[in-house]
Amino acid sequence: MYDVIVKNARIPQGHDTVLTNILVKDGKIAGFVESIEGLEGREIIDAKGNLTIPGCIDSHTHFMDPGFTHRENFLTGTSGAAAGGVTTIIDMPCCSVPSVRSVAQLENKIEKIKDKAIVDFALWGGVTGEDVREGWLHNVQEQADYGVTGFKVYMTPSVPTYPRVTDPEMYECFKAVAKTGLPVGVHAENFAMCDFYVNRFQEEGRMDGPAWAEARMILAEKVAIQLAISFAEDTGVRLHIVHMSTGIGADLVKEAKMRGLDVTAETCPHYLTLNYEETMSKYVQLAKIAPPIRTTEDNERLWKGIQEGSVDFIATDHAPYSLETEKLKEGFNIWTAFPGIPGVETMAPIIISEGYNKGRISLSRLVEILSTNAAKHYGLYPKKGIMNIGSDADFTIVDIDKEWTIEKDKMYCLNKYTPFDGFKLKGKIYKTIVRGKVVYEDGEGIVGEEGYGQFVKRQSIQKLDHIIKF
Ligand SMILES: [Zn+2]
Repeated sequence: MYDVIVKNARIPQGHDTVLTNILVKDGKIAGFVESIEGLEGREIIDAKGNLTIPGCIDSHTHFMDPGFTHRENFLTGTSGAAAGGVTTIIDMPCCSVPSVRSVAQLENKIEKIKDKAIVDFALWGGVTGEDVREGWLHNVQEQADYGVTGFKVYMTPSVPTYPRVTDPEMYECFKAVAKTGLPVGVHAENFAMCDFYVNRFQEEGRMDGPAWAEARMILAEKVAIQLAISFAEDTGVRLHIVHMSTGIGADLVKEAKMRGLDVTAETCPHYLTLNYEETMSKYVQLAKIAPPIRTTEDNERLWKGIQEGSVDFIATDHAPYSLETEKLKEGFNIWTAFPGIPGVETMAPIIISEGYNKGRISLSRLVEILSTNAAKHYGLYPKKGIMNIGSDADFTIVDIDKEWTIEKDKMYCLNKYTPFDGFKLKGKIYKTIVRGKVVYEDGEGIVGEEGYGQFVKRQSIQKLDHIIKF
């Protein structure tokens, strides 16, 4: 007797797909069978021949809980995840009160969010300039031992509770993280460059949306990545460039990999599909993010990076702000509005549509960049990121030919805005399954329960074997 049988699931096999039935026991995959005749399951889920891939992972979310729950909370954030085919998120340590930089703060956060989550979640650890100055770096190993997946470092200011690092502070953070064997995720923009040109553009009276992207220029990301790579080479830390936005970034990561350095990168759907001139003119502060949306040329160079392996996986940097008080408040403009957009809900559909359905990437690469590689990189594999016997029964089932349009008002996250409003896609999430339980169903909406999502500790320290050997 099985708990669940997912019948008629079309799963990837080599370069093709094969129709199978997936047996589930105790939330884990118990087998694959051609026929379910004579088998019993307490629940039968019919995938109806739709493409079934390992549950997608968004390894970069800011669900803002506890502390900024007018922006997002763990219920609305994980609801968006479920609707977007994401079965596991890895939440960042910065956008909460308190921020997460010690085991006590990790435990506090888990206590506050655990009864709200609909999908599974792992957590990033934190380290800041303040931890260096105050002599708190012992917290790094303690967080690693607790089970965080990596450590986040900001070269530019984000929230007051999570101070940025100066260059020498970043070097000290890298040395501390290197000892843990875990990756350090760097927000790579040069602070002095961004600060100087943001001020100059304001003085010049620029108030248009594109001014934000031009002030926080491509060069600021380039030199930041170069510095981070230099520090990684010296300290031996596993360097991960989060939300990489530029084509030159992909080239720099490729060069570092070719030199044998352990440097990885993620990019986001908006850096692959939108250009700043159009998007920032249309949405102004609603498309204000850091790093900013770039050019069409960057879009294509990042796709190339995904194809050849210099970009390792996709994440979203999901970071919504209150429409009323932080984005569109009376008197707010491109400079004063908060930087951030939601994304967890639209990640997988956009990559499926723009990547796989448009022929830019193969099915196997799709699975790697939406699931397997993040699971490996953050030590969640093979519990997550693959459909093996013994792995968690997390599935993203996709109606691969269904055409639809993103509508902001239909989103599940708390603040309903996105620069993808009106974006036409081919490929829609049909069902999202977490440990054998359907949490989202097309047409029905969210069917998961608050508190079902579990905290997943890092299982082991794993390195991502580069798919492409340069
Ligand atoms: Zn972020």
